[in-house]
Amino acid sequence: MRLESIRKQFGDTPVLNNVNLDIREGELVTLLGPSGCGKSTLLRCIAGLTDLDGGHIFLDSKDIVNLPPRSREIGMVFQSYALFPNLSVSENIEYGMKMRGASKEARRKRSAELLELIDLGEKRDAYPQQLSGGQQQRVALARSLAVKPKVLLLDEPLSALDAKIRKNLRSEIREIQKKFNITTIFVTHDQEEALTLSDRVCLMNKGSIVQQGTPEELYTTPRTEFVAQFMGSYN
Ligand code: ATP
Ligand code: MG
Repeated sequence: MRLESIRKQFGDTPVLNNVNLDIREGELVTLLGPSGCGKSTLLRCIAGLTDLDGGHIFLDSKDIVNLPPRSREIGMVFQSYALFPNLSVSENIEYGMKMRGASKEARRKRSAELLELIDLGEKRDAYPQQLSGGQQQRVALARSLAVKPKVLLLDEPLSALDAKIRKNLRSEIREIQKKFNITTIFVTHDQEEALTLSDRVCLMNKGSIVQQGTPEELYTTPRTEFVAQFMGSYN
């Protein structure tokens, strides 16, 4: 996927200033940066939930900027659990497939596979409020994967969870991401999470990507004071 000159402002306030980013197929890129720097806005623009003011988003060399969210083949998981409370776990996972007209048989097969993958087979008929936060995020992940998106966008999916569950789920996400070889953008403001999880880190500040590279590069050769501070290079 390639982002080209993405621009967005809310009212008079610029929030994304010419963001350019190339992501290889199967790569996991973390977007790291302080609160308010534009991470969620960028993901929402990619998913089509927020309109851009300018720029292009190429997926398989096709510009998807004018496509509605459902036609973009992009899955997204948010920080807070956005499961449908009145649908069971399996119904939540199957929801997107159902909307796209998949048969009941195909839906069942896919949700059974995904439930096994996230190790929640026995919860298929439970409702979201009967699950822990970590379990709900695994269901949200399975739901976003059910329609086989080409790109997965994860907006601080772990930040509402406590430390231990967070670490476990972090490595689970990485395993699943590798297994499906799915191109992923993972948003976090936690530099440790970015360092341990990603193929590449993009550090954002005030609506721009200020440096990108492998976790090691950002940590050992920060190009600015801001990068050094944020990556904890002085610690
Ligand atoms: P956080 O780490 O706190 O989630 P973020 O990097 O995800 O921060 P965004 O949510 O993208 O930041 O917000 C970037 C800027 O855009 C902020 O200044 C925010 O107040 C502003 N903003 C976001 N959404 C809107 C909106 N719908 N209307 C007006 N301003 C908005
Ligand atoms: Mg955000």
